[in-house]
Amino acid sequence: MGGYGGYNEKLRRINLSSDKTGEEKLADNLAENYLGGRGIASKILMDELEANIDPLGPENKIIFISGPLTGTVIPTTSRLCIPAKSPLTRLIGCGFCGGHFGPALKFSGYDGLIIEGKSDKPVYIWMNDGKVEIKDAAYLWGKDTFETEDLIKKELKDRRIEVACIGQGGENKVRFASVVHRKHFLVGRRGMGAVMGSKNLKAVVLKGTGGINVASSPEKIWQVYDEVLEIMDKNPVVTLFRDHGTAASVALVNQLGFMPTRNFQSGVFEKISSVDEKAYFNLSFKPFSCWGCPVYCRRILKGKKVTFSRPEHQTTFALGSLLENGDTEEVIRANLLCNQYGLDCISTGGTIAFAMECYQRDIITKEDTNGLDLSWGNSGAINKLIKMIALREGFGDILADGSRLAAERIGRGSQKYAMHVKGLEVPGYDPRGAKGIGLNYATATRGADHNDGWTIAEELYVEGVDRLTNEGKGELTKEIQDKSKTIDSAIFCMFALREGFKGKKDDVVPERFIREELPSGASKGEKLDLETLLKDYYNVREWDEEGFPTENKLKGLGLEEYINLVK
Ligand code: SF4
Repeated sequence: MGGYGGYNEKLRRINLSSDKTGEEKLADNLAENYLGGRGIASKILMDELEANIDPLGPENKIIFISGPLTGTVIPTTSRLCIPAKSPLTRLIGCGFCGGHFGPALKFSGYDGLIIEGKSDKPVYIWMNDGKVEIKDAAYLWGKDTFETEDLIKKELKDRRIEVACIGQGGENKVRFASVVHRKHFLVGRRGMGAVMGSKNLKAVVLKGTGGINVASSPEKIWQVYDEVLEIMDKNPVVTLFRDHGTAASVALVNQLGFMPTRNFQSGVFEKISSVDEKAYFNLSFKPFSCWGCPVYCRRILKGKKVTFSRPEHQTTFALGSLLENGDTEEVIRANLLCNQYGLDCISTGGTIAFAMECYQRDIITKEDTNGLDLSWGNSGAINKLIKMIALREGFGDILADGSRLAAERIGRGSQKYAMHVKGLEVPGYDPRGAKGIGLNYATATRGADHNDGWTIAEELYVEGVDRLTNEGKGELTKEIQDKSKTIDSAIFCMFALREGFKGKKDDVVPERFIREELPSGASKGEKLDLETLLKDYYNVREWDEEGFPTENKLKGLGLEEYINLVK
């Protein structure tokens, strides 16, 4: 070991069709040219997946991968990345989660696992310090993610193992099924759980007791650790985050009039005080953290009716304001159900909100919904629908494919109420109230993903940045997208192009954001001028007016091999 500090320089490949497993060296060009787990995994998928494959077919591959800092003492670096071709967007579908799985992977002696093929029966992968077994999971099939983790720990009689598993959502190939780890950490978006389900893979289980290799001396690492801690200690945003998690922004976004409400019909939620950070803060709690992180931003809340993790901003919006669900504990309960069944909260909420608006407008009735009253705020119906989606029961089967495909099946003009970009449901900031995030939704190569370019960090918190102007938003969005993806962003673009991405024709947002003004609150009257924003963005990126990188741009990035994709 030792060529590339931070890496074990080894990948493990596991083929579920043949039960064959093998060790591979992390290729020099991968470690040198593609920073971090996301970049390396993207390049592997780009090279190994044929164009236009079925994401739920055995030819898709799913990768579990860590980054070069994972497992070190540097705070907030414990993340796990899981990429595959997404069944929801049909683009590459990388997702991340915190917790303990990423460091365990690193300590097991590998940087990543490449899982391919399809088992003919339910199985789970058990990697004990690098020794791989494919184990029978028939007794786990049909269990939720909480039961699955508990049963595997009981079977293996070792509480030090780390489990990443799917619930009924993944088994039933719900296109936005998640992978769940330690009950509270989710690789949520884009349906990685469905890819596992399509391979009959119930869980990946690890134990790692080794050390890790770093490029610099231990003294230098500890020095960086101290510096990072000092910066964090002085930063008031970290204190806010420690107390409230990402829910810290709920009341502010509502006050500024862009908290998505009733499927983006409004930017002001009248019952916000029941689901904002203060409402959660009033419940008794126990803090917890990801591996090695001193921030402890996560909390288990104990209510009168339910005990579970504090909802994040995105959960509060998707299972709260978006559905007009204004009961603190019912939002926590819906979050709990999503984690148990293994469903992404944003797409679950976005798809149910689509159905509720169709119900409001008489596009669907109780005859379509198996008798459910889908009036706004009906938390009983919301909870039932979450279960029906996970089990693909009745009307839930239609919604289990996400709002884009559900609208295609329902028809009758419902398409305009499906609030997605490239198949991915829109996150918790109405783009009419923050133009940069709207531009990011339109251009992010993974669909409407706030994490691809979280311009909100500046539009909300940096003095002098005007959230309502178009001016400068091309530069801001590019800069933040590039930071988010570091240097591997071009790989994602190339993958998207290969899968039939049509440049500007695909850089769209739901018509509502362009044609309808926000009706009330601090952003009243705002719409999104996407044409102007895109023009600025393409210009800043040095792309042509159709939204494709120019030949010169690709040459400049050393990506000559992909020039034919844009011709
Ligand atoms: S505890 Fe909070 S701040 Fe720390 S890594 Fe986890 S999510 Fe990030």
